[in-house]
Amino acid sequence: MTAPQDRTLLIASGNHHKHDEFRRAFPSEIARLVVPSELVATVGSAAPDPTEDGETLLENAVIKARAFSLWSGLQAIADDTGLMVDALDGAPGVLSARWAGEGASFEDNVTRLMDQLKDVPRQRRGAEFRCVLALCDGDQVILTVEERCSGTITDISRGVDGFGYDPIFLPEGESRTFAELEPPEKDAISHRGRALRRFSELYQQLDTTGGPR
Ligand code: IMP
Repeated sequence: MTAPQDRTLLIASGNHHKHDEFRRAFPSEIARLVVPSELVATVGSAAPDPTEDGETLLENAVIKARAFSLWSGLQAIADDTGLMVDALDGAPGVLSARWAGEGASFEDNVTRLMDQLKDVPRQRRGAEFRCVLALCDGDQVILTVEERCSGTITDISRGVDGFGYDPIFLPEGESRTFAELEPPEKDAISHRGRALRRFSELYQQLDTTGGPR
C-alpha cells in the first residue's frame, strides 16, 4: 500500500545511512519519505546545513527539522543522536559527530574514543546511545521522541555494516557489535529503530497532512 499523497515527510539529513534506517523502520503506508537531494531542483536552492549549536540532542534535532522544513515547505523529521560513555562522564554526547574536531570522519572519532578508553577495563566501558527525533512544520515543533540503547564499548573495532561508532558498540545481551549485526537486527534493538517505531505510532495519531504549507 502506498502513502496518501499529502502525507509527505522530509528526512532532515544528508546521511544516507540514516535514510536507509528511516526507510526500513517507517512503514510506507504512513507517509512518503523524501530526502533533501530529491527536492533541490524543485526548491531551487541547496539544502540547508544548519549549525548544530544546541546544548542538547533535542535542541539540535529541532534546529535541523526546522531548517529543513522552512527550506522545503514540507514537514521535516530530524534525528540527533549521541553516544554517552560512562567512563567519560557522558561524553562525547552532543559532540559525537565532531569528537575528533570539526569535519572529523567516523574513523577519526572512533580512533579518538578508543584512545581515551585504552586503559579502561571492560567492566567500566558502559555506554548508551540516545536518539531524539523531532518533527517540525515550519517553525512549529509538532512531535518529539527519545529512545536509548545500552551497551559497552569494545576494545577493538569489529564489523563493516552501519556507520559512526557501530564497530565499537556492543549492545547489551549481544556478542556482536552493531556493525556485525544485519541491518534489520540493528533496527530491532537500536536507539533509532526504537525511536522510529515510537514516532510512527504517534505520527499516525496526529491530525496533520504533511503536505506543502
Ligand atoms: P548526528 O549528529 O545525529 O548525525 O550523530 C552524531 C554522531 O553520532 C554521528 O556522526 C555518528 O558518528 C554517531 N551516530 C549517530 N547514530 C549512530 C548509530 O546509529 N550508530 C553509530 N554511531 C551513530
